[in-house]
Amino acid sequence: MSKLETAQKIEQAFERTGVRRTPQRFFVLERLLTKPDHATVEELWAALNRRHARASRATVYNTLHALVQAGLVREFTLDGKAARYDANLERHHHFVCDSCGAVEDVNWFDVPQLEGNESEKRSIRSYEVTLRGKCAKCHSNN
Ligand SMILES: [Zn+2]
Ligand SMILES: [Zn+2]
Repeated sequence: MSKLETAQKIEQAFERTGVRRTPQRFFVLERLLTKPDHATVEELWAALNRRHARASRATVYNTLHALVQAGLVREFTLDGKAARYDANLERHHHFVCDSCGAVEDVNWFDVPQLEGNESEKRSIRSYEVTLRGKCAKCHSNN
C-alpha cells in the first residue's frame, strides 16, 4: 500500500468510526499499519517523539485507548509481557521468535479439532495460535 493509500484508509477509518482525527492518532495508526511489528507503548512513544516532539507517555496511552475503543487497533499480550498493538484486523495467528522476540503475523488457518466437537459443552468464540521458533532474520544471522 502506498503512503497516500494508507493515509486515505486512515481518514476513512476515522470517518467510519467517528474517531476525531488528531495528529497523534493518525501517526500511531499509520505506524501500526505500515510497520506491522506489534509495537509496545514504549516503542510507539519513541517513534512518536521522533516526529512530534514532547508527546507524553499519557498521550500515547490515550491515543491507543481511543483507537482500541473504536475497534481500529487490537491490544494483546504475550507471555504476560507489555501489551502490544496490532492494526491488522483480519483474523490471523502470530509467530514469536525465541531469539529476538519479534512478533510476526501468520495468515489464518483453521484448527479442525477446535471446530464443532459436539460432545463438548463449551462453545468456542474465537481462538488464536501462537507459533514459536526462529524468525528468518535470526536464521540468516548465524
Ligand atoms: Zn528473530
Ligand atoms: Zn498481528
